[in-house]
Amino acid sequence: PSTRDIMSTPGLSVANGHSPTNKVGDGRLQVVDEHQNFTKDLSSYLERWGLLDKGFAYDVVAVFGSQSTGKSTLLNRLFGTSFDVMDEAKRQQTTKGIWMCPSAYSSTLVMDVEGTDGRERGEDQDFERKSALFSLASTEVLIVNLWEHQIGLYQGANMGLLKTVFEVNLGLFGGGVEENKPRPQEKTHILFVIRDHVGSTPISNLTATLTADMDKIWASLSKPDHLKESTLQQYFDLSFAALPHKILMPDKFEEAVLELRKRFVDRSRSDYIFQPAYHKRIPADGVGFYMEGIWQQVLTNKDLDLPTQQELLAQFRCDEISAAVIDTFNVSSKVVRKPVEAGSVVEGLGALIKDWIATALSKFDRDASRYHAGVYQRKRLDLLAVLHTSLSPVFLGQVKNLHKMVAAKFTKDITAGLKDPGYDFAAVVSKGKAKAREEFLAGAKEVKVENTDWEYEHEFELLDEDLRLIADRCRADETKKMVNAIERTVKRQLLEPVELALSKPKPGMWDTVLTAYRQVSSTAETTYLTKAKSFGCTDEENEHALSTIRARSWMALRRKLEEQISDATILGTLRTTFEERFRYDEHGVPRVWRPEDDIETAFTKAKDETLTLLPLFANISPTHSTLLPKLPTPEVSHDVDADPTPFDPSTAYNLISPTRMLSLENRFKRDADAAYVEAKRSVVSSVAQ
Ligand code: GDP
Ligand code: MG
Repeated sequence: PSTRDIMSTPGLSVANGHSPTNKVGDGRLQVVDEHQNFTKDLSSYLERWGLLDKGFAYDVVAVFGSQSTGKSTLLNRLFGTSFDVMDEAKRQQTTKGIWMCPSAYSSTLVMDVEGTDGRERGEDQDFERKSALFSLASTEVLIVNLWEHQIGLYQGANMGLLKTVFEVNLGLFGGGVEENKPRPQEKTHILFVIRDHVGSTPISNLTATLTADMDKIWASLSKPDHLKESTLQQYFDLSFAALPHKILMPDKFEEAVLELRKRFVDRSRSDYIFQPAYHKRIPADGVGFYMEGIWQQVLTNKDLDLPTQQELLAQFRCDEISAAVIDTFNVSSKVVRKPVEAGSVVEGLGALIKDWIATALSKFDRDASRYHAGVYQRKRLDLLAVLHTSLSPVFLGQVKNLHKMVAAKFTKDITAGLKDPGYDFAAVVSKGKAKAREEFLAGAKEVKVENTDWEYEHEFELLDEDLRLIADRCRADETKKMVNAIERTVKRQLLEPVELALSKPKPGMWDTVLTAYRQVSSTAETTYLTKAKSFGCTDEENEHALSTIRARSWMALRRKLEEQISDATILGTLRTTFEERFRYDEHGVPRVWRPEDDIETAFTKAKDETLTLLPLFANISPTHSTLLPKLPTPEVSHDVDADPTPFDPSTAYNLISPTRMLSLENRFKRDADAAYVEAKRSVVSSVAQ
């Protein structure tokens, strides 16, 4: 429940058996009715009267005095108010209670306190006491209205009333025991208005008598020990005014009233009545709550503790002001919540946020700083904490979005950088990283608000991690591309030496092939290492890439060899070799067989010689086993080779199985035999001619 609920619920109207009957109308308001209920409308009336946003720039005056001494008449003339005046013809008393009306001439609340003369009517002084307490706690000036002929009658009703006022005031403003002195800012101004001043007694005599009476009353008060030495003047300033008889001398009365009015409105006058020292320092927008609180305290007959009242007031009002400020704040911050939640980075968000906070605080400061300083400062911190909490998700969202945006840009930058033919991978990455980090930090700093626990360091770490992963991925992609390119080069470079060597089989053929292979694969490794230098790969990664290259080179060689040992190719090679020996002489000239030629011996020689070459193709077998390359491990080769048949190192050097050898040999022999038959036939036909 709000403070207001606590303050106003105790059901006082029920306790005294009456529901509120406060009267309103004619621009005046009965703040306390005859049953002692406090109005519910004060704040709305203050607003209607244009006083709510006056801050401290308003005044409060109340009138005290016996019934029918022309108090209401005086207020109406002095302030242009419309308080009830006793109807002369009926001599009917106006209702008890406290009425309020704004002055027509300045920002002043005028209170007409009716029925403080219970003592005259033999009633108890309960209401007198309560209204005195209430008035002293809230007004700057107390007008005490009295007839000239009452002056000096020390036992008169007014004296009792004033004694009550003084006592009550001591209770309110006497100061705590520990302070042992009145609080200076809580002085009240008492203006005695002497009515029906005839003029035969000089006003100075009258004021002297009144002052002396006041001192006497003060001396007669039973004061607490620590205030024994206090004087009336420490708590009150007394001033005086005299007015002629209103009925008998209406013009003179009017003249004097106008003169007195000036003392209420003209700040430049030395006798200006509302001196700042009397102001009770309740901001206008808190008056409604404050007065009601005071009245409730008064009703419960508790000691009226003004500092506590002011703190309660401050808490209540600061909360209200804060709530209004937060409402506006939430409306303005709404516009960015959506886009941030949707993943956008809102440009200039930090400036916006700071602007909202500044606006909210300045609104709060303007209205709340008038209240109890400690409470105000505390509530200001509370407000700030609420604002920060409400914005914290926006901050975090923005920072997260920044991370995503910057990481995406980083990927793009690297991709673009790697398109440059002469790129240096490490340089491209480190430049991109620096740019990404810089952009993130600039954005995060922009949106961070001072004096909050907001932090972007964690997100920054996540970003760094992301950048690292992205760079790693790019490097892996680049490495893969490079290995592919190297593999293509290897294949191209192996093509010629392998074809050449295998098309002219002879002992040492494998030495030639393997020497070429060693050359090519070492060039491939060097190429990789040179290019990879800028990648910043780990030794492990390099080792992996190199073994991949070795494996693929080996596979390339193997594939090429397999191509070269197909039946057709081998048979072609054998036939060529055979024919070179059988159909051509040692000078490379085609032979024309004559009958005397020993075709058979030549044939057998060429065939046998050729057949000795066939086994060369069966296995990769260099003259020195040191020429054999290191074979890839089965895992690596599987990793790089799409061929699903697993790589078997034990058969890595075997090319042609014995069965196939036999079949090749037979097919070659048939070919050779055919050549022999053809040679024979050519001799027969040449003889026949
Ligand atoms: P209140 O009860 O003190 O508020 O007195 P009112 O303002 O209701 O006036 C009570 C009566 O005194 C009315 O009949 C007024 O006409 C009358 N009255 C007002 N002003 C004066 C004045 O200056 N002198 C005299 N003798 N009567 C006045
Ligand atoms: Mg009256």
